[in-house]
Amino acid sequence: MERVYIGMGSNLADPADQLRSAVEALTQLPESRFVGVSAFYQSDSLLPGQPRYTNAVAAIDSSLAPLDLLDALQAIELDQGRERLERWGPRTLDLDILLFGDRLIDEPRLKVPHYHMHARPFVLYPLAELAPASLELADGRTLAQLLSDCLFIGLERIAS
Ligand code: ATP
Ligand code: MG
Ligand code: MG
Repeated sequence: MERVYIGMGSNLADPADQLRSAVEALTQLPESRFVGVSAFYQSDSLLPGQPRYTNAVAAIDSSLAPLDLLDALQAIELDQGRERLERWGPRTLDLDILLFGDRLIDEPRLKVPHYHMHARPFVLYPLAELAPASLELADGRTLAQLLSDCLFIGLERIAS
């Protein structure tokens, strides 16, 4: 079993409900044990003209192969009505593999650590609820350092 952190996001069709349904689906993954989920965080979209996002991070322990987990997460996205019309478009559900144990994965379909997680406050804040502050994420920088480097006005923590 390896500890896997999954970034979750939604900005369509009742985002908090979408995240709660996704958590329920994560508890049903094969060869995996659900560990926990952060609070939910709301913030404005980085792209103009989109509804506000709700984001959270979940942790599971899994012995699935990384690509099998990606398949399972994409099936959950589709099950919850995810459509890919434009890159970074509004979505009912996005499930990204942030970290998979301490693996470095560089395959066409899967890059881990997730390429932009170290610069996304809506990932770092919820991740910090579940992962140790000493966890190294990028260039030897720890989660604690990345958090202190990332200023983010307008990230609102709400109950899950
Ligand atoms: P971003 O990657 O900037 O968060 P996004 O999550 O909206 O954008 P998607 O449309 O969900 O992007 O995914 C596009 C592709 O990214 C997927 O088809 C998948 O193969 C690939 N991908 C690469 N690395 C990962 C990862 N760590 N987790 C999830 N998908 C990944
Ligand atoms: Mg994403
Ligand atoms: Mg994605």
